[in-house]
Amino acid sequence: MKIIDIINPATQFISLEYFPPKTREDWPGFFRTVQRLAVLKPLFASVTYGAGGSTNIDSLEIVSRIQQEYGIETMAHLTCLGSNTSEVSQFLHGLAAAGVSNVLALRGDLPQDGSVETPLPSPLQYASDLVSLIRSSFPAMGIGVAGYPEVHPEAASAVADLSYLKLKFERGADFAVTQLFFDNNLYYDFVTRARAAGVTRPIIPGILPVVSLKVIKRIVSLCGATIPAEFLAELEQADQAGGAAAVQKVGVAHARRQAQELLAAGVPGVHIYTLNRAEVVVDLVEGLNFTGAV
Ligand SMILES: Cc1cc2nc3c(=O)[nH]c(=O)nc-3n(C[C@H](O)[C@H](O)[C@H](O)COP(=O)(O)OP(=O)(O)OC[C@H]3O[C@@H](n4cnc5c(N)ncnc54)[C@H](O)[C@@H]3O)c2cc1C
Repeated sequence: MKIIDIINPATQFISLEYFPPKTREDWPGFFRTVQRLAVLKPLFASVTYGAGGSTNIDSLEIVSRIQQEYGIETMAHLTCLGSNTSEVSQFLHGLAAAGVSNVLALRGDLPQDGSVETPLPSPLQYASDLVSLIRSSFPAMGIGVAGYPEVHPEAASAVADLSYLKLKFERGADFAVTQLFFDNNLYYDFVTRARAAGVTRPIIPGILPVVSLKVIKRIVSLCGATIPAEFLAELEQADQAGGAAAVQKVGVAHARRQAQELLAAGVPGVHIYTLNRAEVVVDLVEGLNFTGAV
């Protein structure tokens, strides 16, 4: 089913984002995590694409198995930069054949060395091009897109970035999932600006529990999100006093507070970047008031 058709304005949800494990040996452990978190009754689970060295075949197989073996509605992430139309279509046919009805349509990151992966000009330069392709060739697919409360790092301006988000909706996207953020006011402001620009579709906040100071510093340097000074000081203090375990405690508590506040403010649901860590997610959702909670 399309995710947009199961989002119910009267009930709030959590959704969970996974990434394919690096090696096949890690798959049994990965699926145990999926199973453990299935009791939280996520509205949907999403699986990243091409990130962290994973292959597209891994993404396709994992998303298909979560859908078929665990009965969870799934959304496959799909990037288009550096791909041609037939590669992308092949992936989409694979999803359709496996009964996966939702795609997060993304451009993908530019190569860090500044090179362009495709020497030939491709019609798939931006996520909005991918949305057009999916909408015209796979009309039964539900389509999510990315949104950036703190503005995409390459954007010419916040206004321009928002206009391209709007274009993704005009071309057929159903909803957006946001980039991680650590200050809910950034999300509220983003939604207000999007509504003022004419975006009417759901904008689902993406929440990342910080579990490592080193890792989060690297992530924010890449994606353009910021860590509020007070939260950063708290994380650094925890790191000095108690190392990784203490950082995780502070990071998860912050994410829980963010989710609590967002749900209380009436968001449709909260998308959790799980880091494939069951215990972190269980800890995060403890006490949260969402419909799927056991
Ligand atoms: C929820 C979420 C999940 C993600 N999952 C993955 C994943 O699984 N795998 C992965 O590799 N990456 C993933 N990413 C990262 C994403 O691929 C990068 O942020 C990427 O740099 C931009 O992708 P996009 O779809 O937002 O691109 P776009 O919407 O195409 O925007 C990219 C940039 O181009 C600008 N732009 C857009 N359209 C135009 C236009 N027509 N003309 C000029 N400028 C334009 C925008 O302002 C922006 O700066 C994810 C990001 C989010 C928020």
